[in-house]
Amino acid sequence: MHAFSYSAARRTLATQAVALILIAVMAAPQLVSAATTIRFPTPHSSAYTHEQQIQIGQQGEAEVRKQMQVLPDDDPLARYVRYLGEKLVPYVPDSPNPRYPYSFHVVNLKEVNAFSLPGGPVYVNVGTIQAAENEAQLAGVIGHEMGHTYMQHAAAQATKEGYAQVGLGILGAILGGGVAGALGRTAIAVGANAYFLKYSRNDESEADHVGALLMYQAGYNPQALADFFRKLEQEGGSRGPQFLSDHPDPGNRAQAIAAIIRQLPPRQYTNGDMAQFNEVHDIAMGRRPRSDQDTQGGRRRDGAGQDDQGGVQPVSQRDVIPNGDWRTLNHSAFRVQYPANWQIVSGNETSDVTIAPPAGVTQNAIAYGAIIREFDAESDAPDAAMHDLENQIRQSNPNLRIIGHDEPVTVNGVQGRSVDMVTSSPINGPDGRPLRERDWLVLIPWQGSRDVYVVFVAPENDFDRLRPAFEQMLRSFQLRQD
Ligand SMILES: [Zn+2]
Repeated sequence: MHAFSYSAARRTLATQAVALILIAVMAAPQLVSAATTIRFPTPHSSAYTHEQQIQIGQQGEAEVRKQMQVLPDDDPLARYVRYLGEKLVPYVPDSPNPRYPYSFHVVNLKEVNAFSLPGGPVYVNVGTIQAAENEAQLAGVIGHEMGHTYMQHAAAQATKEGYAQVGLGILGAILGGGVAGALGRTAIAVGANAYFLKYSRNDESEADHVGALLMYQAGYNPQALADFFRKLEQEGGSRGPQFLSDHPDPGNRAQAIAAIIRQLPPRQYTNGDMAQFNEVHDIAMGRRPRSDQDTQGGRRRDGAGQDDQGGVQPVSQRDVIPNGDWRTLNHSAFRVQYPANWQIVSGNETSDVTIAPPAGVTQNAIAYGAIIREFDAESDAPDAAMHDLENQIRQSNPNLRIIGHDEPVTVNGVQGRSVDMVTSSPINGPDGRPLRERDWLVLIPWQGSRDVYVVFVAPENDFDRLRPAFEQMLRSFQLRQD
């Protein structure tokens, strides 16, 4: 059954590709004449070169693959999204900047969402394919994401916020989900959302603008982009808002797109090939994509909402305080006990992991929990390695303060270092402002200059209630030596 759909989809795609080339060739004389100038908005400048943004995207891509299930390139859904993306690529201007090497991927998540990294990678969730009604809507989402990359929104924003002063590595970390960068905005981010710098409404208008121009030139009805956003708004519920909170509505999307298109010569549009779309859509509907609420916590399920500032309403203590039972994580590098009512919210037995109560994880950040990561220091000496790590964290996060000096700590006979830090919690207090967050950082030497570190995270006013659990986790923490 699956094998059949798979090859059928592949055959159809190949046939369609040929058919579309023929149509394009035949239709060419009626297409936009060479005299017509299609004026794209001017990309933002940033402190990062074209090459650096590509490099950041590559780092980010590796991190996305670690943290999310990206479908293989030969999956029929991945193949279709790539096919649509590649139809748009030729219309991306190659000046004033050279064209980025766009690539297209599908993430096995059911939420309706999509995201892009600097330098070209574009990701579409399975849920977005399920929600789309035709090829043009899906192409619109892809074009919109390419618009963010084309406009260099992430790099420009990072530049504006001062991350550029500390160099490429740090932006890579911010966008690539390293703890240093993830600490940067709101405490510690997990999952792919670590890559999103928050887009402004102006960014959204510009991404729509670029997306609409790409669609126009590829022969899609640009209004399909606005239709898709409108549909998400109307649907609301559990699936709609995620895309809309990552990509806030600039207002009057449909009118803005119509105004752009009115300035261009009229032409015939289509919503794409329905037969081919339906075939792929059926495959998508047959899938059971995971929910990012399973992997990143149940904030939305628990009814806590994100406010306009990106902060999160307080969570109930009952949902985050350890229940007294313990589970063991047997990781390839270590073994650790953790509260039985907490979960592995990102990573697995062979990667960096975050362990947290589902209610303590927001879409963008972890408010309660423990992050365990490997760290390659420049030195074998624990105090020098600790200084490396502290510097990395401090440089990337103007908002974070290290309290006092680091101190020796013994973890199952291994001599490590420990320090306290404070920053802003992703959770808001009753006054609507972020709570103060306390982070307890412990570095444990492992093999030579390879270390492992743990960050225990909680709002400051709850930290003491969680401290016994954090201490128990640390007491149980045992690195494997082989
Ligand atoms: Zn957007």
